[in-house]
Amino acid sequence: MSRITPPKYVKHIMITLQARGHAVCLVGGCVRDMILGVQPQDWDICTSALPEQVMDIFPQSRPTGLQHGTVTVIENAKSVEVTTFRSESSYTDHRHPDSVSFVGDLTADLSRRDFTMNAIAVHTDGLVSDPFGGMDDIKNKLIRCVGDPEKRFEEDALRMFRAIRFSARLDFAIEPATRAAIIRKAPLAAALAAERVRDETEKILLTKRPELVFDLIRAGLLDRYLLCRLSDDALLRRISALPRKALPRWAALCRILQQSGCISSPTDFLLSLRLDSRTIRCCADCAVLLEQAPPGSSVEWKRLLSRKGVDTVTCAAQCRDALYGGESQKALKAVLKSGECFSMKHLAVTGDDLLALGIHGRQLGEMLRFLLDYVMEYPENNKRELLLSLAKYSEES
Ligand code: ATP
Ligand code: MG
Repeated sequence: MSRITPPKYVKHIMITLQARGHAVCLVGGCVRDMILGVQPQDWDICTSALPEQVMDIFPQSRPTGLQHGTVTVIENAKSVEVTTFRSESSYTDHRHPDSVSFVGDLTADLSRRDFTMNAIAVHTDGLVSDPFGGMDDIKNKLIRCVGDPEKRFEEDALRMFRAIRFSARLDFAIEPATRAAIIRKAPLAAALAAERVRDETEKILLTKRPELVFDLIRAGLLDRYLLCRLSDDALLRRISALPRKALPRWAALCRILQQSGCISSPTDFLLSLRLDSRTIRCCADCAVLLEQAPPGSSVEWKRLLSRKGVDTVTCAAQCRDALYGGESQKALKAVLKSGECFSMKHLAVTGDDLLALGIHGRQLGEMLRFLLDYVMEYPENNKRELLLSLAKYSEES
């Protein structure tokens, strides 16, 4: 175990529960991360105390998932999830247990967890319960289901995505029987809510190994959203050159899938995965921009920026450089750094100035557009008096 230990507020909750006679331990991702020497993102406490008992002991707590036995305890303004040891029944919908029951037994609780590395508990005295060999699997960098993998994926098909996500994030291999079960049970993924598939796919895209989206595709986990499976991951590997941000990584994925005929358009694909409208618009615009040659001059860059906005143009430049090489980002940065005007906001005259000249309605919009086009070509002339004279002159002629 590494030297990472739980913070004081977590220890305090554990010791308080223990003092009341309840079994208590840390479990799940925080234990895995401690063993790996990675700072855990959150601390999950598991206990034999029933949710009502936890709430009695900690008046500052909220019942955040009572049906799963989870109470959020607030300690020192920090919140920690405290969950009662539980076991789960059958899973008719391949995602949620039909019912859960609280058990006094830690091993029963650990056996319902997805992977051996996530089924290790650490007690207040530092002793470890590891009934499924999770420590060895972590040492060998292996993701292995607790129990029979096919059965576990039948219970909850999302676990197949979690296996690939953890392998991308931790750089672990998936143990052969677990991987074989993913291939066999992949059709069950079609029944998962699109939002869950979106979240897991995005988390993989945001790791250091975004190309493992190919594992999802190859296994058939995304079949419901694709016209065909991608044949290789050569281009997907280039996604890691992109900033670890959702927008450029989704845009690059869409481009690769569209080019290979796996999706008809980014819009259809992302709509089916319930992405937000901003991401859909940006990815659709990027796809169009990537079809065209990149701008060849600063004036062309500014025209593009004025039509599509900084975010979309930046995203397309990032994707172009990462997927096909080139220096689009460098050229774009130079234009942005120049401070030259490419939007009405930075034009030296406003709509009010033009109104004062007697220009109204549609003509006003057209005049602003005309002045912006002019200034994009002659940036040194973005001066109020000069533009007002030009407006007056154009109005008269
Ligand atoms: P992360 O660092 O991404 O949060 P995590 O392991 O903490 O990783 P959570 O989704 O926060 O993942 O879940 C906490 C724990 O609950 C897991 O470590 C695992 O023991 C258990 N768990 C979560 N989801 C599932 C699932 N679908 N099936 C079985 N056990 C699960
Ligand atoms: Mg977690």
